[in-house]
Amino acid sequence: MTTKYLFFTGGVVSSVGKGVTAAATGLLLKERGFKVAVQKLDPYINVDPGTMSPYQHGEVYVLDDGAETDLDLGHYERFIDIRLSRVSNFTTGQVYAETIAKERRGDYLGGTIQVIPHITNEIKRRIGLVEKETGAEIVILEVGGTVGDIESQPFLEALRQLRNEVGRENCLFVHVTWLPVIGATGEIKTKPTQHSVAALRSIGISPNVIIARADQDIERSLCDKIALFCDVEKDAVIPMKTASVLYEVPLLLEELGVGELMLNKLGLKATLEPDMRPWRKLVDEVKKEKPTVNVALVGKYVELQDAYMSVREALKHAALANSVEMSISWVHSADLEKDKGWDVVKRADAVLVPGGFGSRGVEGKILAARYARENNVPYLGLCLGMQTMCIEFARNVLDHEDANSSEFDRSTEHPVIDLMLDQRSITDMGGTMRLGLYPCLLQPETKAANAYAVPSVEERHRHRFEFNNAYRTEFEKHGMVFSGLSPDGRLVEIAELKDHPYMVASQFHPEFLSRPMKPHPLFVGLIKAAKEKAGK
Ligand code: GLN
Repeated sequence: MTTKYLFFTGGVVSSVGKGVTAAATGLLLKERGFKVAVQKLDPYINVDPGTMSPYQHGEVYVLDDGAETDLDLGHYERFIDIRLSRVSNFTTGQVYAETIAKERRGDYLGGTIQVIPHITNEIKRRIGLVEKETGAEIVILEVGGTVGDIESQPFLEALRQLRNEVGRENCLFVHVTWLPVIGATGEIKTKPTQHSVAALRSIGISPNVIIARADQDIERSLCDKIALFCDVEKDAVIPMKTASVLYEVPLLLEELGVGELMLNKLGLKATLEPDMRPWRKLVDEVKKEKPTVNVALVGKYVELQDAYMSVREALKHAALANSVEMSISWVHSADLEKDKGWDVVKRADAVLVPGGFGSRGVEGKILAARYARENNVPYLGLCLGMQTMCIEFARNVLDHEDANSSEFDRSTEHPVIDLMLDQRSITDMGGTMRLGLYPCLLQPETKAANAYAVPSVEERHRHRFEFNNAYRTEFEKHGMVFSGLSPDGRLVEIAELKDHPYMVASQFHPEFLSRPMKPHPLFVGLIKAAKEKAGK
């Protein structure tokens, strides 16, 4: 079958849930029997988000092959339950870097390099890779940012060209916009949507479908107005009110007939009857009254919760599996150093220390680990959270007062967390960490092995530093168990405390593989222990 393309663009403002809408649409198409692949195009000039501050960008989502990508890829993997690869995300930075490298090699034989055709050709080449690599029947492609941004122009122009190359009948332009409300009158306005569609049309793209987002009910008459002014068929304007539960989005889109609409417009027929019952069950479960378990998330970027998107989702999945409501208390680790925020930590049923880089707030995370160990409070450490657990143990159990990671103290006498040899010579910051999927053997009869209930797993990594093997025996003698190791036994992947209800930490990032229907075992274990502690 000819590959079909769904191009998602954003109108009016960003952060209206374009990624979630595109991901949920992907699920509806997969449910109808199609092989779906996705790609996100990011207009910024960074080569990837790996070196960007989480304050700027939110979480960096890591794929199996080690690609450091936009957090929307997390939505795609969680909703569609697929495993994506490097071709699923690219940036303006990558497009220019490749084009300029070719120019320097002389590949263009003296030609003048221009946005059209050279940059747009490189964009189209990268789009083509998705179908080549995955053999997908439908490619969902999301353009980051909002129509009208200077940065996204070359991407939109490339899509316009692509539409003519693959045939209009094989593409749909889906424009996701926002309908603002005037507070004084409560009136919903469509004018900004009209303007953003006008901007799209000025570069030669007429949307086929408009998904109009708002926080309140959108009347059909308003959709008809959008249809008239934006020159879109009436049935192709979808009124999408903000969902109270994230995982309800696919159900709402299904009710609105989005799955069938897309197929009709692409000239496709479903080969499977979509079965949304598992999602309905999940959402019903979310909405049920349940006892609450409170988790203190001790992090550094807590002002911007998007920085911990996958951690938050993984906690939600695990809470559902344990039939509890989960509330997260966001604790600024630097506050704990100043004796602030402890009341919040003390009220919590569990402590979670997520990943992070740089020394700011690290001492607070170490204090949080100490509190969890000494008070038998369930603790889950993710990457840096494992390192802080080990530093705390070395300082307060093994009495190595200055124990640290060489990331934070280069001259410590006890670098219990240290650089691997092959990381020592690296000077470039981008893409040079231990990245992506690595196998991990579980040591029998440990909390980790019991949680996973399989002998070995593969998990996604993103770090430079490792547990220092010189300290292994000493740690073990005092009650630390290294319950997950690399197959050659050289790298500590999971550490846990023997005499503690649940103090488990991994060098990898389990949050990237948690799915709503397949909650991650280490998170399920944490919430189970928290539930027991809370007596619920
Ligand atoms: N900064 C630590 C390292 O590089 C931890 C990284 C992380 O938490 N992702 O090893």
